[in-house]
Amino acid sequence: MTGKKIVVLGGGFGGVAAARALRSLLPAEHTVTMIDRNRVTRLCGMNPMLIVGERDVRKTGRSLGQLANRGIEFIESDIEMIDTSGRAIKTGGGTFDFDYLVVALGASYDWDAVPGSDLAYSFYNLDTARKLRRRLSRFRRGKVVISVASQPYKCPPAPFETAMMINWYFRKQGIRKDSEIIVTIPEPAPMAVAGPVASGQLRDDMERRGIELRTGISVTSVTPDGMEAAYSDGSSISADVITTVPVHRVPQIVSESGLTNGKPWTPVNAETLETSQNDVFAVGDVNVVPFAEGKAIPKAGVFASGQGQHVAETIAARIQESAPPPRYDGSGECFLAYSTTQSALVGGEFLASDGPQVGLKAPTASGMRNKERFERDWRRFRI
Ligand SMILES: Cc1cc2nc3c(=O)[nH]c(=O)nc-3n(C[C@H](O)[C@H](O)[C@H](O)COP(=O)(O)OP(=O)(O)OC[C@H]3O[C@@H](n4cnc5c(N)ncnc54)[C@H](O)[C@@H]3O)c2cc1C
Repeated sequence: MTGKKIVVLGGGFGGVAAARALRSLLPAEHTVTMIDRNRVTRLCGMNPMLIVGERDVRKTGRSLGQLANRGIEFIESDIEMIDTSGRAIKTGGGTFDFDYLVVALGASYDWDAVPGSDLAYSFYNLDTARKLRRRLSRFRRGKVVISVASQPYKCPPAPFETAMMINWYFRKQGIRKDSEIIVTIPEPAPMAVAGPVASGQLRDDMERRGIELRTGISVTSVTPDGMEAAYSDGSSISADVITTVPVHRVPQIVSESGLTNGKPWTPVNAETLETSQNDVFAVGDVNVVPFAEGKAIPKAGVFASGQGQHVAETIAARIQESAPPPRYDGSGECFLAYSTTQSALVGGEFLASDGPQVGLKAPTASGMRNKERFERDWRRFRI
């Protein structure tokens, strides 16, 4: 058997899981190369706690250069073109041929889609989270609004977790009675992807904490001073701090490659995560895996990671001409912290044969310990 070249595009949750699993499943004659424009990648899942001063900025990153110790070649370069027919990847640092390709390039943010949102606050990347952290540390009274621009967005629990953490922080600072927290979402119910029971539980939990929820509206613009947001139903909200969850899009190079077939995200075979091109797979936020009418598996690191692992097993089986793994089951659970000591879990098995088995488990202290372990494991490349 001649050595095969496997190239993994993107070093986030999905790419790292795929590369690690491939390296452990395949002998050294086969090469595993990862390409990412950033040597250090960040755990956005820490941002809802980071904005209230409860996470150390220096502990939010991991260096992809460390993958070399595990036999994975890491190339720090901008990917410029995915040529699926020529089986080659063009980057700022050269061209890489492949026999098997894993596309794990995540989702891009389109700040221009909501005019003014680039000047308002957010927590969807490290820079915006740090800016919001500085603002909240000076906050004494007034209104904070968290507004989602459109679906889908990464980590369905994130806007609610962020509201919970701000609620916790304002209580700790003794300013909760002088503050209002409002969350607006385009969906008719919070975290609808987890089913009506989970959604109802979350709605009650927010209400009990005095967090106002407005559903069925998308933020459409924010004034240049960042003090007023306009919504799709013609309403507006004036606030002291307006934070937005940006419009998410498939990265341009992925749509230009033809892998999306003109769709908003990369369609894949739900059982193998293979794209319309043979031996080209798409995992994580970049793809769409439907599980019910109009619903798709959430864009979250746990799913990206599970998909990376699954695709690695499929590629290894093809190379070694062994039995493929069982079909992808869409399982994973995300944390939803309610405070620094309590975290809930949301998720389950989205592609279970008898329908999605998903839900929300109540916040507990052990949930928070698991969340902290998840963060440590991520930094050590165990996830
Ligand atoms: C506030 C917040 C909280 C979250 N909390 C959680 C949580 O608790 N649990 C959870 O599971 N998920 C959480 N998520 C979601 C999670 O971060 C994403 O779903 C996950 O990172 C997706 O993994 P991925 O591998 O698909 O893409 P990414 O992690 O986004 O990785 C994509 C990689 O591709 C690289 N890339 C893109 N384009 C190019 C190019 N042209 N050239 C070179 N490199 C390129 C990027 O640099 C990046 O490293 C959260 C997200 C946010 C924003």
